[in-house]
Amino acid sequence: MQNDHDHGVTDVLLAEPRGFCAGVDRAIEIVERALKKFGAPIYVRHEIVHNTYVVNDLKAKGAIFIEELADVPPGATLVFSAHGVSRAVRDEAAARGFSVFDATCPLVTKVHVEVAKLAREGFEFVMIGHKGHPEVEGTMGQLSEGIYLVEDVADVARVQVTRPERLAVVTQTTLSVDDAAEILAAVKRRFPLVREPKQQDICYATQNRQDAVKLMAPGVDVMVVVGSPTSSNSNRLRELAERLGTPAYMVDSADDLQPAWFDGHGRVGLTAGASAPELLVQQVIERLRALGAVSVRTMAGVQETVHFPLPKGLKPVLDAP
Ligand code: SF4
Repeated sequence: MQNDHDHGVTDVLLAEPRGFCAGVDRAIEIVERALKKFGAPIYVRHEIVHNTYVVNDLKAKGAIFIEELADVPPGATLVFSAHGVSRAVRDEAAARGFSVFDATCPLVTKVHVEVAKLAREGFEFVMIGHKGHPEVEGTMGQLSEGIYLVEDVADVARVQVTRPERLAVVTQTTLSVDDAAEILAAVKRRFPLVREPKQQDICYATQNRQDAVKLMAPGVDVMVVVGSPTSSNSNRLRELAERLGTPAYMVDSADDLQPAWFDGHGRVGLTAGASAPELLVQQVIERLRALGAVSVRTMAGVQETVHFPLPKGLKPVLDAP
């Protein structure tokens, strides 16, 4: 019988910070509290956060995930996912009379508010983001016109705007920091008068997790990112490590780990996207120990203290016996 230890994991270095951000924490808590307060089922528009484990866990507790509001029965309680929704979805939910709890991350809402405000001042927008991602649909859907998506530098050369002198730029919160900077530079070259957000839209969690991978990747032989395939920020972490020359793999759970990845690659860097629970990270560590890891250390890193309050009606006092 082959011994797992032959595969040669020696050390595990844990990224800091990694895993849940404040927006994900809040979104999951909103669904859990709604389930406790109102009972199952609670309807959730789109995956509350892009993580298979989280979604299955909430399904087991009585959440029903839908994409179309037509699939929600009258009078139901509905939660909007952390990614945010367009005005059309918000209006439709109101028209159908659902009781709505909004789990949109406050940092996404901040972008929505900025878009609405500048639009009233006559601005058009270039949005840097990934086509089809629900956050991009939600942000672009704050306006019925005058917001144009660019996914890369080539798109910047092609985009047609009608008011280049009154143009602002917004970005998806979970982009590659480096790619976004490159695309933004191209936008500024083509539209020198473009207005940038005061503070970048890429969120603190995305920035911090990418910074940690930048520090860690050159010192390990292989990187493992815990995250689901649909998770934008997790994908960016894997890509970033590869760009730095470190082979990198994304796993939805410990079962996805393949011993062959560690042949001759004993030093493993481990991180997790903003939607991936720490429980999954711990299971991956156990598996890496079974594959030979003798040392598991956490790198020094930024300590995050961001916390977002729950919506009215779901405050912690509800838990009182
Ligand atoms: Fe909010 Fe950033 Fe987390 Fe998205 S990744 S939920 S924008 S904190």
